[in-house]
Amino acid sequence: MNKLQRGGLAALLVVVVLAAALAPAAAGFILAQRSLRLDETERLSRVADAALARAEDVTRSLSSALAEIARVAGEPCTASYLTELRRIALMHRQVRDAGAYGNDGRLQCSSLRGAHGPEAASPDAERLPPPDWRGSDGLSAWFGPLHLPGGETSLVLGRSGSYVAADPAAYVDGTASGLGIINTQASRVIATTPSADPSRLLALYRRPDDGVRCTTPYVVRRSTSMPLAVVVSAPRQALPERIRSLPWGWLFGGVATGIALACWVAYLIVQRMSPRGQLTDAVRRHEFIVAYQPIVDLATRRCVGAEALVRWKHHDRIVRPDDFIPLAEHGGLIQAITDQVLDTVLLELGEFLTRYREYYVSINLSAIDLTTPRFLDNLRPAVAEQGVKPDQIRIEATERGFLDAEAAKEVISAFREAGHPVYIDDFGTGYSSLSHLQNFRVDGLKIDKSFVDTIGQDAASSSVASHIIEMAATLEVQVVAEGIEREEQAIYLHARGAQFGQGWLFSPPLTAAEFIRYAGRTRGA
Ligand code: C2E
Ligand code: CA
Ligand code: CA
Repeated sequence: MNKLQRGGLAALLVVVVLAAALAPAAAGFILAQRSLRLDETERLSRVADAALARAEDVTRSLSSALAEIARVAGEPCTASYLTELRRIALMHRQVRDAGAYGNDGRLQCSSLRGAHGPEAASPDAERLPPPDWRGSDGLSAWFGPLHLPGGETSLVLGRSGSYVAADPAAYVDGTASGLGIINTQASRVIATTPSADPSRLLALYRRPDDGVRCTTPYVVRRSTSMPLAVVVSAPRQALPERIRSLPWGWLFGGVATGIALACWVAYLIVQRMSPRGQLTDAVRRHEFIVAYQPIVDLATRRCVGAEALVRWKHHDRIVRPDDFIPLAEHGGLIQAITDQVLDTVLLELGEFLTRYREYYVSINLSAIDLTTPRFLDNLRPAVAEQGVKPDQIRIEATERGFLDAEAAKEVISAFREAGHPVYIDDFGTGYSSLSHLQNFRVDGLKIDKSFVDTIGQDAASSSVASHIIEMAATLEVQVVAEGIEREEQAIYLHARGAQFGQGWLFSPPLTAAEFIRYAGRTRGA
């Protein structure tokens, strides 16, 4: 991974972690606010329902008082008339005053002040202004504020010269603040609680939206039987108060959940992005391919087989085994990789091997593969099913694989008993190559490239190759020399008695199809 990709990954990680931390916090916060607002709206709805019932009650009472006045017999403003007015006013709790007025609106008498004196005739005498609203049935309404006998009044209903006036408090008595009663036909505020702002309530009444979603929730209730509506609004909070009433518990809970979630997501990402995570993915997705490096008979230069060399095809890039096999060995993935190599070999070369019995493919095993018979248990039926002879699949085991010498000895002899020849790979590079040769019966040695490289040079190690070859002859095991790049090396090794060799001099690792062609060419040679 280069610097740029690492930077990109770090940035992505930060974004994901932040998103994972903030998303539940934000969700919790929004949900909490929503539920608070719903609670508040529910409360406001209850207040509005009660206020509407009360306003309807008041209006009903005023109308019936007015109807009763209309039925009073006799001339208006006589003593008996006034007595009746007072009785009606007393009977209807919400009626503050009742009286009579002339065609010009001038007040003639009232239950509170009796018959108006001669000053009633004067031009500045108390009179009702033109009504704010006129109904079809001759009913007139004034929505105040009006100064009538008995003080300020908010609603006056009048019909055919008689009127009743209500105390504005009668509408909103005992109800919460922020409440207003509205006449829906005239779009006028009839009464409000003392601290409420009538123009704001009217504005809320006219708004088309749903009051639940507002920062300051409100509720509008319309009467079905009267031109009345109630607007109740939650009190406006000052900023510090609003901050205090925020659902902090939810917010902190959300942040804590978010952080936990973010850590978990980060852990998963880091794990997934880690080399081991990527290799695990590669095993799951079967991202391994196999290259075949021909092994030739040094005497005839004819191909006798190939070594299967695994490669990881990672995002269109070919990763060499030295860069991932150690990781696979430590991460417990190597056995799965060995299995995939075998599957690929049989898939790609199975038919070739059944057709040309003289060729073989050798497979590299790791230390862990040499501790149990697991791989042999897979190999045996797979080879049988394909119809490949056991000695066409050979095993290469490095000395690193002999750490558990007893187990390795058993597994190696089991391979050999099953007919799979076994070679000691990279022979001579370990501490105890010779002691292994005494302990294990094997079929061949692979001379490490480092000893082949020094052939022809004056280095002390240049003779190691010939010593190994001599030893192999004594033990009657085959020799395959690795990493032959120059003709003189091939000639030298052959002259010393090495039968087989592999290296770039003959061929680099090939694809299966290339290998089949290569084998055909050397057969014809
Ligand atoms: P190795 O078993 O010693 O394989 C020989 C390595 O030498 C191969 O490298 C091959 O490409 C390289 N090579 C062959 N001829 C020449 C040459 O003339 N000159 C030079 N400079 N190099 C040559 P490769 O493919 O990179 O494999 C490296 C090592 O990875 C192998 O060394 C083997 O130990 C391991 N390996 C490869 N495939 C597998 C596998 O399927 N399983 C396990 N456990 N290990 C594997
Ligand atoms: Ca090998
Ligand atoms: Ca080797």
